[in-house]
Amino acid sequence: MFLTMQLTATHINYYHICHRKLWLFANGIRMEQTSNTVADGKLLHETSYPQRAEKYTEIDLSATTANGTQLAGKIDFYDAKEKVIHEIKRSDKIETAHEWQLKYYIWLFELNEIYGVVGKLEYPKLKSTNKVALTESDRLYIQLVIQKILLLLASDTCPAKINSKICKSCSYYDLCYIDEV
Ligand code: SF4
Repeated sequence: MFLTMQLTATHINYYHICHRKLWLFANGIRMEQTSNTVADGKLLHETSYPQRAEKYTEIDLSATTANGTQLAGKIDFYDAKEKVIHEIKRSDKIETAHEWQLKYYIWLFELNEIYGVVGKLEYPKLKSTNKVALTESDRLYIQLVIQKILLLLASDTCPAKINSKICKSCSYYDLCYIDEV
């Protein structure tokens, strides 16, 4: 897995939420289908801005880093004219993870020699938006995070539970805590 796997924005996002979640996801353990939070997020995506699919483009990006790591990203709503990625989220509780997901997309654009892209995090339920840009230190940080993710995923040991407030809305909650209830 260490040599052949492809990293995506989901890996970057989960790294900033919980290393256990990242490890479970990367090892093929999926529980999104049983999660109300995930279903709610999908519905929000489909209903918040009904005209959006006509206005913006869906785009798939990929790149290979200097040391051979394959990267990919699927962006649902990209405004090619204004060079803005629109990312809709349900809640800002894990905003740091959302921000790094968007920064990763911007970096992927740069690896494809498309510069000047910015991101817009949109929270329709909160009626708020947050502009996201990529800095020089962010570029270095993302490369470091990718190395850390590869190391984490090369391990046979599932990281420990984090016992955090966010566990309640995680799709792996039952898996992590079912024996404790
Ligand atoms: S329930 Fe909590 S500990 Fe388990 S994977 Fe999710 S965030 Fe991590």
